[in-house]
Amino acid sequence: MKIIKLIKDIIAPKKCYSCHEEWHFLCLGCFRMQHNFNPMCYICKGPSENFWLHGWCTWDVFYDKVIILTHYSNEVIQKLIKDAKFYHKKDIFEDFARYLTKVFIKNETYANKDDYIILSVPMFFTRKLKRGYNQSDILSGYISDKLKIDYEKKLLKRVKNTRQQSKLSKKVRHFNLEKAFKINKKYVDKLDNIKVILVDDVISTGTTIDVISKLLKENGVKEVIWLVIASD
Ligand SMILES: [Zn+2]
Ligand SMILES: [Zn+2]
Repeated sequence: MKIIKLIKDIIAPKKCYSCHEEWHFLCLGCFRMQHNFNPMCYICKGPSENFWLHGWCTWDVFYDKVIILTHYSNEVIQKLIKDAKFYHKKDIFEDFARYLTKVFIKNETYANKDDYIILSVPMFFTRKLKRGYNQSDILSGYISDKLKIDYEKKLLKRVKNTRQQSKLSKKVRHFNLEKAFKINKKYVDKLDNIKVILVDDVISTGTTIDVISKLLKENGVKEVIWLVIASD
């Protein structure tokens, strides 16, 4: 049955999940209706120009900006992300990458592409084997193509598997995650004085983004920008 579904998905044309028009999984018109995140500070959710965190909100976090496309509570968005992530409809991420790129350009004075690198959130190899791919890696590839910014796929490593984080307390989450990520020594020079764009599908807790951002800042990164499809 799984194979039949897969073949059907491959030969069936793209259709908008919301209005059922062909050619896109989420057409521009429907995206505009779903896209209701005005530039805000991720910490306090208050308005903030170009998604910068407020100075007074950053005292215990290590990232500088979180650009979010839309709310995860939106049913159409949730279905799109689940199909892309778990059911091999990776093309959906290409549609999202197009919208993410637009929002990025709108909110970042992006004068010199050499000031930036793109990174994805690495997945532990057993989990990747099980799922077949890492959604953050797929999205990062598409965004790198569109922005013409280098994607350093092997720079960040996941050296430990972690349990589902969302049910644990903040303190335990931090403890679990701090040792889960490492920087590949071969690439450490690339981080010197650079702005990093981290691409992911969903932020469920702020812990992962904080732990990774801390690791990057400790290794010379100037600015950490998260670019994500959805958050609660
Ligand atoms: Zn539509
Ligand atoms: Zn704030």
